[in-house]
This record gives sequence, C-alpha cells and structure tokens, in this order.
Amino acid sequence: MADPKVTKCVVVGAGPVGALAALYAARRGWHVEVYELRGDLRDASTTPLNFTKSINLALSERGINAMRHSQSPSLLDKVLSETIPMYGRMIHGQDSAGKLTEESQQYDVHGRFIRAVDRANLNKLLLDEVDRLPNVKLHFNHKLTGADFRKRKAWFEKKSSGGPQTADGAQAHQDQVDEKDPEELEVNFDLLLGCDGAHSSVRYHLMKSLRMNYEQSYIDTLWCEFTIPPASSTLSTSPSAKQGFATSPNHLHIWPSDDKMFIAIPSTDKSLTCTLFAPSASFATLEQTPSRVKGFFTTNFPGAADLIGPAELRNQFESNPHLPLISIKCSPHHYTSSCVILGDAAHAMVPFYGQGMNAGLEDVRVLFQHLDRQTANLAGREAALTSYSLERVPDAHAINDLALANYFEMHSAVTSPLYLFRKKIEEFLSDKLPSTGFATQYSRVSFSNQRYSEVVMSVSRQSLVLGALGTLPSRQQPQAILVKLLKF
Ligand SMILES: Cc1cc2nc3c(=O)[nH]c(=O)nc-3n(C[C@H](O)[C@H](O)[C@H](O)COP(=O)(O)OP(=O)(O)OC[C@H]3O[C@@H](n4cnc5c(N)ncnc54)[C@H](O)[C@@H]3O)c2cc1C
Repeated sequence: MADPKVTKCVVVGAGPVGALAALYAARRGWHVEVYELRGDLRDASTTPLNFTKSINLALSERGINAMRHSQSPSLLDKVLSETIPMYGRMIHGQDSAGKLTEESQQYDVHGRFIRAVDRANLNKLLLDEVDRLPNVKLHFNHKLTGADFRKRKAWFEKKSSGGPQTADGAQAHQDQVDEKDPEELEVNFDLLLGCDGAHSSVRYHLMKSLRMNYEQSYIDTLWCEFTIPPASSTLSTSPSAKQGFATSPNHLHIWPSDDKMFIAIPSTDKSLTCTLFAPSASFATLEQTPSRVKGFFTTNFPGAADLIGPAELRNQFESNPHLPLISIKCSPHHYTSSCVILGDAAHAMVPFYGQGMNAGLEDVRVLFQHLDRQTANLAGREAALTSYSLERVPDAHAINDLALANYFEMHSAVTSPLYLFRKKIEEFLSDKLPSTGFATQYSRVSFSNQRYSEVVMSVSRQSLVLGALGTLPSRQQPQAILVKLLKF
C-alpha cells in the first residue's frame, strides 16, 4: 500500500514531455503513475506502422539541458549517441543559368550545432529510463476522460488497444474509436501533470475549474512528410552528398520558396526526413491533380524531386497525411496545488523554430526547479505552481510568437541581403567583441537557456543598438559605445 506521506503524481501522456516529467517526479521519490492513450511505442507488435518510421526533430540546448538535470547520468549520453549534428542550414536553389545551387549558412560563429534526433527513439529511451524505477507504473491504452482537480480525482477508460495516430505526437488526435463498455478507472492524486499534447484533455477539464485565458489559431499552411532515401537508392545526389547520404548529413536543408518551403533533416539510417509546408490552397490543387506534384516541386524546390524520385514523390504525397499547424497560448498553466499542464498541452506552437519539444522538456526542468525551492506540502506546492506559471507563461508566449515569425525567416528571409548582413554583424560582435554581449536571436534560442521572454528583450535591444550605430560619427569607438548602449 502506498505511503500517504509520499506525493502521488499522475502523469497524463507518455510523449517526450510526459516521460521526462515522470522521470523527474520519480527521482524525487514520489509515487508516479503514467497514463497514456496509445499502446507502448516500444512494443513493435502493438505499435501502428506509421509510428515506427523515423520522424526527426531538431534537439537543441534546452531539451538537452532538461535531460542533463534529470538525475539519470547515462540518459543523455545514450540520447546524444544516436543524434546527428547539424552545423547550419543548407539553402538549395537555382541560378539564372538553371544550375542547382547549395549555400551553407553556419548556425553559430562559435561552431555550436543542433542535433537531428529520431522522435520515437528519444521517447523510447526516456520510457526505458522511467520504467527502470520501482516507484513508477506505466499504464498504456488508458485515456483520460474526466478530472476533478478540487477532489484530486481523474477518470480513465482502459482500452484494448491504442487508437489511430499520426506519426508526429504533436498532431495526435484523440482516439475516435469508441469501444463498447470500456473498463473505467478512478484514480486519486496529489498532483496531476497534464502532458497530453496539443489536443489536451487535461487542459479541457482544467478550463472548467479556473478562469483560463485561451487562444488557438491554425495558420493557413499544411504539412506533409517525404523521405529522401540513402544515396545508394536515389536517382540523384547533391554536390554536398557524403557518407552514404544523398545530400549533406550535417545540415538542416531548406528549399525556400515564397509562401512555401521544403525542409530535410538527416536520419541515422542515412535517409532524410523531409517536410513540405505550403498554403492549404496549394495542397488542395495538388490533391485534385496529383500528376502536378512533380512540376510543383521542380518549380518551387529545384533539385528536391530528383533526390526523392518522381514516382515516390507522388506516392508519398498521396499516401502521407496532410496535417494542419496549430498554435496555442493559455494562461495560467496550473490550478492551485493539484494540476499543471506542460509541453504542447500548454503551448503548442508552429514548428519553425524547432523548439516545440525543446520548450516542453525545458518546462519540466523549470517546474521542478520551482518545486524543489518549496517545502513538500500543499502550501509549498501551490506556491511552486503559482511561481512556475508566472515565469513560464510569458516564456511560452514568447517562443510561440518567435516560431511564427521564424516561418518568414525560413522560407524567404534566409536569402535576403539585409538578413544576412545583420547576421554577419551580430556574429562579428559576438566573436570579436564578446564584452558587448551580442548574439544572434537564433543562438540565444537554440544554444542557450536564456528565458525566451528575455531573448526577445535582448534582441530588440540589439536592434536599437545596431540602428544607433548606423548613425555613429566614424571617429567614435564602436566597442565602447556598444557596451554603453547595451547597459541601458
Ligand atoms: C512537423 C513538425 C515538426 C516539428 N519539429 C520539431 C523540432 O524540430 N524540434 C522540436 O523541439 N519540436 C518539433 N516539433 C514539435 C514537437 O513534435 C512537439 O512539441 C512535441 O512532440 C510535444 O511533446 P509532448 O510530449 O508535449 O506532446 P505529444 O508528443 O503530443 O505527446 C502527448 C501524448 O499524450 C497522449 N494523450 C493525448 N490525449 C490523451 C488522453 N486523453 N489520455 C492519455 N493520454 C493522452 C498522446 O497519445 C501522446 O502520446 C515539431 C512538430 C511538428 C508538427
């Protein structure tokens, strides 16, 4: 029987954020129960095919730092050993003579890089780590159907198997298959962590208990996945191809094109996972006449179709889902001492900064930092959840906005002379005059743990300084002026 003095923590959702949250809670000696709608993704026999294929994400400092603080020393080594470094963007295009071009843009003047990680593999490693601990129970095929945060009770339906799912957890929709008379369970808890993704049931029930401000929007862009096979099975390779990959394995590839873009991220099996982002109207046209897919790619993303192969291109467009992109902001993220939502449940964002999962993992680290500062009783927990929400809501809103703004940067500004000029100046100052504190927005977001809301403030301060520098008399000492300006 559970010791009533030990905190009982229920985690809803066993995606990357739920699994890490369970690990943090378990490392504090709490009794942890995890309830996940789907089957165990580590069990090949119960996992639908579309979840076993490789779906890659960009893992960066915030996600890494959250795992570093999980009190599981070997976890991070295991995760990182199965990642591929991406040192910059590779911008693909075509010159006026019709020749395909590739231009590498380093992410960071100091050589720092982001990493391509297989989402399912990361999730598996986190679940393995949690599963090893005696104070954790994992319940798969359990769907949260209700919750009373005042009485600290939650209700789950036990299903015989997980429902339909998309390959990316962020877009997972609730199981629509109703079983006859599913078994129901009532579960008590001290603290419930809602990590159940963008379409969160925990958030839905939380809204009934508190005055939550909530904002949801869909952008007019859909996405669809494609795969560039290893060099050995493709018709064509690009000039940067090496190590068995059809194009550079150490870049995040972008084919920018007005209001659309195509990106590719390397996988450990030497393929690249690609995503087409385009307005819903473009998708509608191609859905009606799939024979135009090849021409659409040739016009907008020169060279990409040949890396995939024309037949496969059309086949993948027709067989892979065309999914929407949702952006969610809400406040607060908690209710008294009994519930808090984390990850996409609290702040689903468009994927253009590669920060959704990183921000969700960072939520876990920041939450437990607040909990660790307080005494382990109801009042202490309420104080921790309150201060967590106060800190995290502005940060979540900030990265949500930055992710939307980065869509513009990725599909068109990456080739703009003004953008490149500013990047060069900021990098020069960061490298040669570190005392100025200059750093690009990208490096602050991806290579530091500076609060997202502070990143926004630092970058707008830099913009003012750069603007002021443009009017400086030439005999003044730029370094001294920069240092002065940055301190206001
Ligand atoms: C195209 C695309 C590209 C992306 N690229 C990146 C990237 O490069 N880098 C990055 O950091 N992020 C990226 N993201 C975002 C990232 O995928 C999400 O932020 C991340 O998966 C969120 O993790 P999570 O654990 O909060 O939610 P999820 O991964 O959605 O997990 C939620 C879990 O809760 C379960 N669940 C749902 N409802 C219930 C219920 N009622 N009861 C019980 N369980 C339930 C679900 O089955 C699921 O397992 C991308 C997203 C998209 C769409």
